[in-house]
Order: sequence, then structure tokens, then C-alpha cells
Amino acid sequence: MYINPRVKELEVSIIRQIAQKAAKMDDVINLTIGEPDIPTPRVIVEKSIEYMKNNQLKYAPTGGLEELRIEIAKFYDEKYGIKYDKDEVLITCGSTEALSTTLKGILAKDDEVIIINPAFSLYDALVHMYDAKAVHIDVSKNDFILTSSMIEEVINEKTKAIILNYPSNPSGTILPKENIVEIANFLANKDIYIISDEIYSEVIFGKEEYYSIAKCDNVKDKVIVINGFSKSHSMTGWRIGYLLAPLNIRKELIKVNQYTITSPSTLSEYGAIVALQEVSDVSSMAEEYGRRANLVTNRLRELGFEVADAQGAFYIFANYKKFSDKDSLTFVLDILEKAKVALVPGSAFGVDGYIRVACTLSLDNLKTAMDRLEKYLNS
Ligand code: PMP
Repeated sequence: MYINPRVKELEVSIIRQIAQKAAKMDDVINLTIGEPDIPTPRVIVEKSIEYMKNNQLKYAPTGGLEELRIEIAKFYDEKYGIKYDKDEVLITCGSTEALSTTLKGILAKDDEVIIINPAFSLYDALVHMYDAKAVHIDVSKNDFILTSSMIEEVINEKTKAIILNYPSNPSGTILPKENIVEIANFLANKDIYIISDEIYSEVIFGKEEYYSIAKCDNVKDKVIVINGFSKSHSMTGWRIGYLLAPLNIRKELIKVNQYTITSPSTLSEYGAIVALQEVSDVSSMAEEYGRRANLVTNRLRELGFEVADAQGAFYIFANYKKFSDKDSLTFVLDILEKAKVALVPGSAFGVDGYIRVACTLSLDNLKTAMDRLEKYLNS
């Protein structure tokens, strides 16, 4: 049977492949998928159950429940000082669909999209699926800091968008305000979209302050913010996210959203309202991720890894070249087999020579994982 070659060429995510392999083995500490062990706050669950008992679930209005869009606009204003109207908010099925809807809506054949490696693999997959071309900037050799001169080297008339993701998956780094402003100044007169994936914006624990590029007035008309509730409120399975875009862009993207999913689950939209109204302070969760990130960073540094300075998200990205010249997939498969710790290879994010540790389990589990890794390296 004929299958769209763009789809046929895609591979199942390496992260999922390793997680599946680990799931079939006994006694593995699985630090692969970015899904925290912290449960969804109880009040969100309880109120959603009540809502479902008392209401017939119907399709949500196109674009999302108005009350949720108002809460999201309020949240961005109060939390980050960025003003969006409720009609500039589009509710999506997770931030995955927000990214997919955005790229589907703006890309045509042979357009180019700048992706900053190491990067979450979804970006490459979507760009490929929509017949466009990913152009990469590797920031791993510059302490994961992106500069406008790096963008200048790759931007051209085919460039339609650049995707930024801070705090970053997989490095946990944040771009300092000066760099964001410098990049905004450079992009201000360029005719391209800036897609800002801010899914980890509430998971900040380092000294660096989080600064969204949507705060820069000289580019706000071309910024599309991507965010959601999976990480901020541990609501991965609820599949609820959103995008923020100027009216003229949102007006087009809403068509993609509607013809793809009709609307996200009404129940999840309700749960997201409860999240913003009743669980607005998630700092204790961010602090817990901070403790985990510290433990893993310190242990890996003691062992001799070069570790990125994570300021947020819940991943640690470490260079292992001192120990091995194996490629990263071979290295993590060997660790999985011999040390029973499941990690993700840097190659899954477009840079080799690294491992990613997801700090999604308790401190005790992470300690045991680091002990096992130490034993493996000394054997
Ligand atoms: N962006 C980044 C950077 C991510 O790490 C993830 C999930 N791992 C997503 C987007 C998608 O999250 P969701 O669809 O659950 O909102």
C-alpha cells in the first residue's frame, strides 16, 4: 500500500524505543521519558470528577472554553508580564498539537525551519512530515547559548521559522535575558516566525531568571508561544495545552486545530481551569526537581562527566567523552544492559557524545541510579 514517503521515512522516537526495551527487563531504573512521578494535584482530579458527574460532556467551543482562555491570558500577564487577549489563545490537545498545528499552518514545501540542537525530536519529525527542511544550529559547544550571529549564518530567504525552547529539553538551560533581547533585535526586521516552546516555563529552579521572547515588543507580532499543563501541573495524560499568537495568525491556525481535532477534551479544558485558579503556585514542585537536578549534576560531575548547567525543566544532559568513544546509542544500551539504568542518547536530540537523565523519579531512586552508573564506569 502507498504511504506518504515523508511519513514512511520517520522513525519511532528513540526515547520510546529505549523505554519499551527497559519495560521488558527486570529491576531497571527508567530515566527515559519526560513524565514525572509527581501526581496531578488532587484538587484538579476531584473537581474534574465532580464536573463530569454533574455535566453532560459536550464538544468544547472551537478555539477552547472562553473561561480557560481568559485564565491563560491572565496567567501570562500576571506571571510573565506579557499581554495577550483571550482571543489570541488557542486551546490544543497538549503542546504537541500546538506545535503540529503551528507548523502545519505556516509551512509549505521546501521551507526551512531553524532548530537549535540539542532539541526535542518532535520538531524535526513535524518539519519533515510537513515537507519542509530542518536547518540545525549546534549550541552544545557554546555552553548551550544561542547567539544572533549563529542564526545569521543559517538564515536565508527560505527560512520560515525558528524554534526556541527554554528551559531546554534536554539541557535544562535558559537563555539569559541579554541573549533573548539580542536575538529579538536581530530578528525584528526578519520575515520569519519565532516559535517559543515554553512548556517548562514553570519548572525553574536555578539562579537564572526566565525571560520569554514574547516579552520583546519588537518581535511580538511574529512570536507564537507554545505551552501546556503536562509539566507545570503533571497533567501529561490529560492532553491539554495551548498556543498564544497574534489575532491574524491565530485566525488561520484555528482552522488547522478544528479540522484536526475539533476540540480538545472538554473535561481536560475544565481541569486546566482548576489548575490555573486553584494551583497557581507550583514552586514546591519546581524545588523538588531542583533538588533532583542538583543531586544528579553533582554526582555526574564527581564521576567526571561534563554536565550542562540546568536552570529548569527536569533533565540533565552530560558529555561522557572522557569515558568512552562509543556512539551515544551504543553507550546507553550498554549501560541499560549492564547497569540496569535506562537513559536517552544525545543522538535522539541531534548531538552525539551525550546522555540525558530525566529526573522523574525520587531522590532515592536517582541515588541508586548514580551508584549503579559509578559501578558500571569502574568495572
Ligand atoms: N515540548 C517539549 C520541549 C517537550 O519536552 C514536550 C514533552 N516531552 C512537549 C513539547 C510536549 O508536551 P505535551 O504534548 O504533553 O504538552
